Amino acid sequence: MKKIAPKNTRKPVNPFLVLLVIALIGAFISLTFKPDLSFFQNKTQEISLTELIQKYNQDELKDIKIKGSEVTAEDFQGNKFKTFKEPFATVADLKLDNPAKKTKVEILDTSGEKMWEDIILGIGPVILLVFLFMFMFRRVGAGGEHGPFGFGKSKAKIYDPKMHKTKLSEVAGMEEAKEEVVEIIDFLKNPKKYQSMGAKIPKGVLLVGAPGTGKTLLARAIAGEAHVPFFTVSGSEFVEMFVGVGASRVRDLFKTAKRNAPAIIFIDEIDAIGKQRGSGSGGGHDEREQTLNQILTEMDGFEPGAAVIVLAATNRPDVLDKALLRPGRFDRRVHIDMPDMNAREKILNIHAQNKHLSQDVDLKKIASKTVGYSGAELENVMNEAAIAAVKNRKKSISQENLENAVEKISMGMARKSRKITDKELKIIAYHEVGHALAGHFTENCEPVHKISIISRGSALGVTWFLPEEDTYLNSEQKMFDEMVSLHGGRMAEKMIFGQTTTGASNDLERISKIARSMVMTYGMGGKDIGPVVFAEKSRGFAGLEFHEKEFSEATAEKIDQAVKNLVEKAEKEAERILKKHADLLEKIAQDLLEKETISREEFLAYFE
Ligand code: ADP
Ligand code: MG
Ligand code: ZN
Repeated sequence: MKKIAPKNTRKPVNPFLVLLVIALIGAFISLTFKPDLSFFQNKTQEISLTELIQKYNQDELKDIKIKGSEVTAEDFQGNKFKTFKEPFATVADLKLDNPAKKTKVEILDTSGEKMWEDIILGIGPVILLVFLFMFMFRRVGAGGEHGPFGFGKSKAKIYDPKMHKTKLSEVAGMEEAKEEVVEIIDFLKNPKKYQSMGAKIPKGVLLVGAPGTGKTLLARAIAGEAHVPFFTVSGSEFVEMFVGVGASRVRDLFKTAKRNAPAIIFIDEIDAIGKQRGSGSGGGHDEREQTLNQILTEMDGFEPGAAVIVLAATNRPDVLDKALLRPGRFDRRVHIDMPDMNAREKILNIHAQNKHLSQDVDLKKIASKTVGYSGAELENVMNEAAIAAVKNRKKSISQENLENAVEKISMGMARKSRKITDKELKIIAYHEVGHALAGHFTENCEPVHKISIISRGSALGVTWFLPEEDTYLNSEQKMFDEMVSLHGGRMAEKMIFGQTTTGASNDLERISKIARSMVMTYGMGGKDIGPVVFAEKSRGFAGLEFHEKEFSEATAEKIDQAVKNLVEKAEKEAERILKKHADLLEKIAQDLLEKETISREEFLAYFE
């Protein structure tokens, strides 16, 4: 893959700061550094005006030069004199106009000699400023080939189609998305075929999916398969410091693409510019609006049949401006889901292609352990496993390497070095077993996969529940059971130690979130609330954001009550379970303190 345009590696400086510094330096120079220009002139003798007139009258002077109020003279021996007159005194006033005298009297333009003094003191700093400005613009524009004022040019990178080799086969899973993409590629390859049928070709295609699901990868594959110039730019690159620059970049980008048609323009992370206008606060807001407007104008301005397709990717379609989603713009959406079991195995396979795997490796098993992993995370698993294999001086990657990599990535690096007191460790152990037991004795909670009190990342301990299969629907009962198991940790602390700790704050946060979404989004709030979706909108005005409820205060109170009821009901259930199985709590927690981790099999053995 070859990038034609140079890459900007330098960090842009804040131009206003630089400007201020330069202005200060300039002022400093011109105020303190006023050069004494007489230094450059020959030594002259200063005399009085009367003396000078005397010398004139005695015919001693060869010439007299009058410049403003300064009078200089030279006698026939080459001696120089200097004196001053009143500014408005004329030659006649001074009686220096006697035609009988040999002295040549010259009146010089006042501006004459002073000019270059002015240049140095006045214009010099300006020139300096201009140079520094150009220097800065070069940094801002950062496109070496664009010259100093290229900052309005598009920074889009062109991927040379011939050099570009990403193939659709390198993208695993997402079958529907690929189907759509094949159509787009076909259009770019044979636009005539579609046009002769009178078929309208989509102008814009929006790739929507969570981070790391392969949106950028898919876009590259489109470029690789379609064999057309591919201009890619990231939304955040548009949001620059000077107003209007983003818009002019868009203009430039579209112009270049049209010249190279058929072509693809890919705007990655378009949510950075495509945020709803009039919402949000802070700087760069006007700029974003102008850039967005320019995109809309350009997309509307495509002549019918222009074989330019605008691809855009986002993980936040909800924040995109509605105007972007109207027909004739990004009228097609391609949803890219998190990979399911099958796709995960394929993705693992793709990233295993250039690696040595041991005989024992079972990627299917790894796929089953990585529910909820994105493509990027799976790639990371492979990579971590390879690094571990190298570290252990192995010739190939083993299943163990892969399994450790999965754990490492999902829970952060195991940090045994962290010093935790015995008392804390004890609290953590009961807390985690509390989660596990409360979850185990509910009907719908996912099975416990592992309990550990080895701190990883920011979590002190972890109870890992793992679904047996991918699920797409969450039932009311399951969400409730999840709350019960989340309450288990805090409840165990309360029962054993008589108080709770800050360790449960994340649990509480998750519980409230689940309860709130049950009541407000899924219509699970009970009779009092009914199956109604309650939305909270935020709206911006003059840089301020307001939250606007689409329901009355009375309803808000009811919602709060329903949420509280749910949370408390789950807490009671957790308490009931843990009281009933207090002996197990004790036993497992003690074992956990000793072993540090309890596997699924070990955990299940307690119930036989
Ligand atoms: P996104 O743009 O959606 O955030 P990327 O396209 O940047 O995600 O994905 C990051 C990396 O993850 C890709 O370069 C690729 O190596 C890997 N990846 C993600 N999804 C897939 C997939 N479906 N098949 C193969 N590799 C994938
Ligand atoms: Mg991306
Ligand atoms: Zn917890």
